[in-house]
Amino acid sequence: MQPHAHTAGEQKSTASGARSRAVADRVAAFLHDRDVLCPACRYNLRNLATAACPECGRILSLHVNLDTPRFGALLATVVPMLAYTGVMGLAAGGLALAILHDPRTVMEVPGHIWLLLLLVPVDTLLAGLIYRQRLGFLALHRGARAAIALASWAGHLALTLWTLFVIP
Ligand SMILES: [Zn+2]
Repeated sequence: MQPHAHTAGEQKSTASGARSRAVADRVAAFLHDRDVLCPACRYNLRNLATAACPECGRILSLHVNLDTPRFGALLATVVPMLAYTGVMGLAAGGLALAILHDPRTVMEVPGHIWLLLLLVPVDTLLAGLIYRQRLGFLALHRGARAAIALASWAGHLALTLWTLFVIP
């Protein structure tokens, strides 16, 4: 074989060797003067010059990960809406049964009850809209997300307290 002639396999292994050397260099550069624990065995990899853990032998690599999406505020905003919708939906079902049983009941239902029931589709639409626009919601500043979640809770809490204590 000619000394300069490489087979496809040799070229491939040379290329992958170069790649793994590049990975090793990046890992070594990252670990230079930095305390990082091996994800497998918790060995401190500080100043490691290779891309393998000296303790457990696992091959190491570097990755860029997305920050964990923060769904907390989104859930916190939607939960009171769905809870209100659920409870008032049951109440609406009960009212519908009463009206079916005796149509005159319609006349006895106070106006503000209709107003509260009207909020059910409004809340459902609003929750659906927020879910549809969730990426936009998640892109909002942390303070804005917290403010929206707080407003949702405060509004529904006020509505619930009004329903329970002021109306009767
Ligand atoms: Zn290890």
